[in-house]
Amino acid sequence: MSKRMSDFSIARRRMVDRQLRGRGITDPRVIEAMLKVPRHKFVEEAFASQAYSDYPLPIGERQTISQPFIVAAMSEALQLQGNEKVLEVGTGSGYQAAVLALLADQVFSLERISSLARRARLVLNQNGFSKVNIRVTDGTYGWDDEAPFDGIVVTAGAPEIPETYLQQLAIGGRLVIPVGDRNSQILKRVTRLPAGDYRTESLLDCRFVPLVGDKGWEG
Ligand code: SAH
Repeated sequence: MSKRMSDFSIARRRMVDRQLRGRGITDPRVIEAMLKVPRHKFVEEAFASQAYSDYPLPIGERQTISQPFIVAAMSEALQLQGNEKVLEVGTGSGYQAAVLALLADQVFSLERISSLARRARLVLNQNGFSKVNIRVTDGTYGWDDEAPFDGIVVTAGAPEIPETYLQQLAIGGRLVIPVGDRNSQILKRVTRLPAGDYRTESLLDCRFVPLVGDKGWEG
C-alpha cells in the first residue's frame, strides 16, 4: 500500500470516529460502508486532500458532494438491511450511491446534469460499484418503471414533497428528503404504512443545493 493510500484510509477512519460515531451514527452497516467507500475518488483531484473533512465540497456545475455526516445520517434514516431496492435522486459525484450499493441490493440513481452522471458512472465502475443504475432525467418524476422502492433518498432540497415519491414507495418503505426553502431545509423521513397512510418525522436541519425540476424549484 502506498503512503498516499494509507494516508487516505487513516483520514477515513478518523472521519468515521469523529464525525459519525461522535455525532450519534450507530448503524454498524452504515459505519462499515463509510469506512469502505474511497470518498477521495469521488471528488476532483484538487480536493482529494479535503475529501474526509467535515464539510461539503464542489463537484462542478455549481453542485456539491454532501458532508460525510449528512451522507451517513441519510443512509441510516433509510433503515436498510441489505435486501432492498433503493432510488436516489441527485447522483452528483456518485458517492452516496456507492454507500447505498453496500447497504442495499439494487440501487437506482437519477441526475439531471449529464456531465455529472457521466463522471459518476465512470468513478463508480472504476471502484467496483457498477451495480448502480444511473439515468439522466428530471428526477422529480421518480423512476416509474422500477417502482416500488423500499427506500427513496433525495439529495437535493425540495420546496415540498413530490407526490410521485410517495406513490413509488413500497408499503413499509422510507422516503428521506430535505424539505424547506432554497437556503435551509429540514430532513424528513416519510414511511408508507399499510392502508394508504404515511408517517412523517423531522430528523435534522440541513442545507442542500436545490432540487430543480418540474416538481421542484425552477432552474
Ligand atoms: N448525492 C450526491 C450529492 C448531489 S448534490 C453525491 O453523493 O455526490 C445534488 C444533485 O442533485 C446535483 O448533482 C444536482 O444536479 C442534482 N439534481 C437537482 N435537481 C435534480 C432533479 N430534478 N433530478 C435529478 N437530479 C437533480
